[in-house]
Amino acid sequence: MSENEWVTGKVGLRISGVPLDLEMTVPARPVKPHRMLPIFHQMANSFADIGVQAVELEGKAISCKAGCGACCRQPVPIAEIEAYQIAELVESMPEPRRSEIKERFNAAYDFFDNLGWFDDFRTEYLRKKTPAEMAKAIGLAHDYFGKNVPCPFLENEMCSIHTQRPVSCREYLVTSSPKNCANLDGKNIEMVTLPVKPTKSLNKVARTDEGKRSGQLLLIQALRYAEEHPEAFPEKTGEQWMADFFGNLANEQQPPPPPNIKKRRSRHNSKR
Ligand code: SF4
Repeated sequence: MSENEWVTGKVGLRISGVPLDLEMTVPARPVKPHRMLPIFHQMANSFADIGVQAVELEGKAISCKAGCGACCRQPVPIAEIEAYQIAELVESMPEPRRSEIKERFNAAYDFFDNLGWFDDFRTEYLRKKTPAEMAKAIGLAHDYFGKNVPCPFLENEMCSIHTQRPVSCREYLVTSSPKNCANLDGKNIEMVTLPVKPTKSLNKVARTDEGKRSGQLLLIQALRYAEEHPEAFPEKTGEQWMADFFGNLANEQQPPPPPNIKKRRSRHNSKR
């Protein structure tokens, strides 16, 4: 099989009664799972679009826009495979930007590490949740938000990696006033309910034992995690990774059936 071979297929889904046709081009040869993230991003965008269309039909409008980065001070959950994608993204940046971004990551990480916040969060995350423990976990997230530490990628209140931002950032959409997102009490925030949220499914794709032990990874932990745990994912074809993703989705929610991607072959330049 040629190194640059890809396969393209159309997937017809029906989500909340809305037909969704996705054309996906995936690697035909075995690749690491984080090479699939552009495709998972495409799907996350499509699922978000359906949620947006639904609220627009109700006469509401999305209030998220460039210049509002209130939500970018929250603890942003990422999948293990996203940690390596983010680390590679930062590593690929030209200097001095690479060093600046790394410094921001280090500062944010050290700040919360010195508070013992990661340990508390990990303990709560791994625990079976009673309502009281759930409330404690939410309280920890509020504490984090209250520290007003911006995401290392936030610049002039705009996301500097917009097209490559994590899936959870794509799922956070509101129709309420931006001012409400900045309130520490989190009251009166009207979030868009998405028919399918791929974050949980993505969390399980290729998750390692170390990833499970670590609990929910957060964006500001990405560089440290990738550095301390050299990537050791298996390789699978794009079609197999998609099957894993949709299989996880099936266990999380009422999902579309797994796609069958075997239509035509094309050639792209790719990077493993
Ligand atoms: S990656 Fe972008 S959208 Fe996500 S929290 Fe950071 S700045 Fe905000």
